[in-house]
Amino acid sequence: MKNTKNTEKGTTEYKIDFFLGINKKLTRKTQENLKKKTLYMALKQKYLALALAHKNHLAVLGVKLPKFENSKGGCKQGYALTILFANFGEFMHIDAIKKKVEEAGLTLTGTDPLQVRHLSTQKGWWIVKEGKYKHKLVSVTECLPGFIAEKRASKLNDENWAKMKKEYGYSCVNCGSKEGGMLRWDQTKTTVLQQGHMDPRKDITYDNCIPQCQFCNQQYKSKAVFNRRGFVIDFCKSGF
Ligand SMILES: [Zn+2]
Repeated sequence: MKNTKNTEKGTTEYKIDFFLGINKKLTRKTQENLKKKTLYMALKQKYLALALAHKNHLAVLGVKLPKFENSKGGCKQGYALTILFANFGEFMHIDAIKKKVEEAGLTLTGTDPLQVRHLSTQKGWWIVKEGKYKHKLVSVTECLPGFIAEKRASKLNDENWAKMKKEYGYSCVNCGSKEGGMLRWDQTKTTVLQQGHMDPRKDITYDNCIPQCQFCNQQYKSKAVFNRRGFVIDFCKSGF
């Protein structure tokens, strides 16, 4: 790839041999997109190797693999973990991780958009820190020492869940959407009831569970503490 000329507007155009000898002029923007795509593909490949190690060694220990992407696009934590995996055994500054995530095409906002610490404390990956900002992935065959698979993954059994849904008239405790009916806040979707936490800091048990539609459950995530009727009675600061 070589620089051929500067255009009058000041943008630089490049010529590269593209796909077996076809010459194509690439604008800087096209070039950046190509770079992004290349990094994305390299990361995705790494992620597949990581997912395999997870399946073979870590899943049984309760370590959770963050998704690499969903229908909305790339997932920040999946990218961050993959980047740590690509730099296995070496410390990486959080800013360097962020930069790579952005280069691969994701937009990051806020002061701590990646929440790398959650990968270890909540998901069980053996990641250690040096100082405040540096992170290192230590193993993909062993989980974080002392990690006990999060009980929050626990669910009501089918019988109790059926009982609870009946108790609530098969409706979301927050918005009233009926299971199998139209979702109130997104009328293109069908309501699926999920087991929401009343207090997100505690396990899901019959006394700490409320039925929420997928929309409300997603909205509140770990931010609010509810009573049995779905009224917010407290806020969970760590959820914000
Ligand atoms: Zn709802």
